[in-house]
This record gives sequence, C-alpha cells and structure tokens, in this order.
Amino acid sequence: LVEVSGVSKSYGGIEVLHNVTLTVQPGEVVALLGPSGSGKSTLLRTINHLESVDRGTVTIDGTYIGYERRGDRLYELHEREVLRRRTQIGMVFQNFNLFPHLTAIENIIEAPVALKRATRAEAIEQAKTLLSRVGLADKAGHYPRQLSGGQQQRVAIARALALKPKVLLFDEPTSALDPELVGEVLDVIRDLARVGTTLIIVTHEIGFAREVANRVVFLDKGHVLEQGTPGQVLGTPSHPRTQEFLRKVL
Ligand code: ATP
Ligand code: MG
Repeated sequence: LVEVSGVSKSYGGIEVLHNVTLTVQPGEVVALLGPSGSGKSTLLRTINHLESVDRGTVTIDGTYIGYERRGDRLYELHEREVLRRRTQIGMVFQNFNLFPHLTAIENIIEAPVALKRATRAEAIEQAKTLLSRVGLADKAGHYPRQLSGGQQQRVAIARALALKPKVLLFDEPTSALDPELVGEVLDVIRDLARVGTTLIIVTHEIGFAREVANRVVFLDKGHVLEQGTPGQVLGTPSHPRTQEFLRKVL
C-alpha cells in the first residue's frame, strides 16, 4: 500500500534520510522508532509529500503523491493535484493542529465539505459517527480551547478519518499530553489497529509499539538500521544503536 523506495533527503547539504526503503501492507501497523533527529518526522512528511525527496520514490497504492510518471521520468504535479492525492493519507500531529476558531464538529467536516466529498448534511452525519467512535459524541459544539489535550487529539484523529484515507500517519501523537491523558488517545489508535486501519506511528511509547505494531522500524541518523516484529526489534535487537536506544527509553 505504501511503498517508500530508496528515499534520500538533505537539508542544506546534510543528509537526513539515507536510502530509506519501507513497504507497508494494507492493514499493517508500523511503529517508527529512533532517537531525536533521526529523521522520523521527515520520513512521514515525505510520505504525504509535505517534503519533496532528493532521490527515490514514494507511492500510495501505486500512485505518486507529488509527481506523475511520463515515460521513465517523474514530473512535479500542480499544487491542486498534490492536495487531491494527499487526501489518501491522513496525518495526526503531536500538537493536534486543530483550527482554533472552529468547533470539534466543524473541524471534522471542513475538509470533506471544502473538497465536495459530501454535502454539509452528510458530512455532519458522518462527523457525528466519528465523534462517537473517538468517545466525544457530547463535545461536537466545543471549541479546541474548551477541550483537554487528549480530547483535542481525538478530534484530530476523527478529522483525519473524515476523508477516509488509505493510511494514517501519526507523529508522536501522545508526546504533548499529560500522562493521564495518554491512555485515552492510545485506546483510539488501538481500536483503529484492531479494525484493520493501515497505520504508521512515530512513538516513544515502546510498550504500545510492542502491543499494537506488526512491525517495528528503527531509524538512526536517517538510516533504517533494522526492522522486524516487535519481538525481534524490541526484544532481541541486533544492532548496538538499537540496543543503546532501547536502554535509554525503557
Ligand atoms: P524528533 O524525535 O526530535 O522529533 P525526528 O526523528 O522526527 O526527531 P526530524 O524532525 O525528521 O527528526 O529531523 C531530522 C533532521 O533533519 C534533524 O537534524 C533536523 O534538524 C533536520 N531538519 C528537519 N527539518 C528541517 C528543515 N525544514 N530544515 C532544515 N533541517 C531540518
Ligand atoms: Mg519528529
């Protein structure tokens, strides 16, 4: 479903992703781990083409998000087409990124209505279902500032689901939360995993990664150092850098 192939990316001459290859099957849950600055966020951002790549390709279900292939060359797509294709990928950020001037339900219907995926009435019905699913049926009319961090993040997940993406990317979805609010967000992600949603999750919650991920990928200085089942990578890591990282975070 997601095919990252030989991706390299530099900022100002410094390579932050080095020849990264990663394949994610439909329904798979991949946990992306690695030290600060290892390139985890950059990798997620290349998947939905918030960042361009210097080398390599990224496809979702066989389509490029930022490019199109003509013959054997890739051409940059227009912004509008990039935005359209990007709707196949949902993203949830560390800091929720809700629209502050919109209520919970307005945040959720904004994209489907703007992109004419649904009428306003249909979008509202769907948003109510999504709010129930994340346990916030009673918060539809609340503004982000009237919600706790955990509630805001659950609205952000509902908003990401509103466009029915093929894959959902999470960038440290719980690291801005007070400890007592982490569980409610992890519960929602756990439910998504259980119903077969394809997920790529950057997280420092090692226990959670062990529990929900089918595969763990360890990134260090822009290199995929190892990947495998949680048992392999977290239980018996083969690379010294992975061992060191796990000693620090566990
Ligand atoms: P963290 O765990 O702290 O979130 P990360 O693994 O997500 O780290 P990235 O944010 O992907 O790491 O950053 C990888 C490297 O790329 C870092 O050295 C960072 O400083 C650099 N970098 C990221 N974005 C940019 C940018 N827009 N311009 C220049 N350098 C950048
Ligand atoms: Mg990051």
